[in-house]
Amino acid sequence: MPKVIAIDGPSGSGKSTTAKGVAQRLGLQYLDTGAMYRAVTRAYLDAGVDPSDTDGLIRATRAAEVEISTCPSDQWVRVNGRDVTAAIREPEVSAKVSAISTIPECRQNLVSRQRAIIEASDPGIVAEGRDITTVVAPDADVRILLTADPQVRMARRKAELGEKVDAVALADQVLRRDADDSKLVNFSTAADGVVNLDCTYLTLDETIDAVLSLARSANVC
Ligand code: C5P
Repeated sequence: MPKVIAIDGPSGSGKSTTAKGVAQRLGLQYLDTGAMYRAVTRAYLDAGVDPSDTDGLIRATRAAEVEISTCPSDQWVRVNGRDVTAAIREPEVSAKVSAISTIPECRQNLVSRQRAIIEASDPGIVAEGRDITTVVAPDADVRILLTADPQVRMARRKAELGEKVDAVALADQVLRRDADDSKLVNFSTAADGVVNLDCTYLTLDETIDAVLSLARSANVC
């Protein structure tokens, strides 16, 4: 049985960086489930499917061949044979990804692929996203909801995107996306058995240390 650390949280909470850091420290694999939603989004946009065409989005999701690296120090994503590692970070993808993630059939399709990756991981994996602790891996050894105040999350996302991002785009990427994403998934309160780790006042290293300490308590390391 692989060791599994599941981390959920809203945009800009630092899930990806924290999860990657924990995976590197523990010699585990790393799964960025958001990258899979983004890869499918890149594929449906490239295929010219309209974001309001639910059937088209379901078909595009089912047809999308997503390959994703689980190496924390070498992340890449391919969809339908094309490397989209950089393309999935484009603002257009961030703006249109909720069209996929708010359709239950699309979620089911990606959730089963994510479960397969987690089950095949060796010796284990740190998986992060919106629904990992509750839907994808509710039996994970460690389950964490990583939160931070909205102002801090906006500032962290701005630092990631660089100075060129304006206030409207930033609010869209953090607040509007969270509002849309929370229609089907609850990632604002910790479910039973999930530890709420508020990293508003923590540095990245302190956040990683807090996760490592929870992992030690759960005998993951
Ligand atoms: O984490 P990231 O911001 O890259 O995720 C992109 C989008 O993918 C989210 O805004 C959300 O719509 C969707 N997502 C999801 N469930 C996950 C991971 C991501 O719905 N487990």
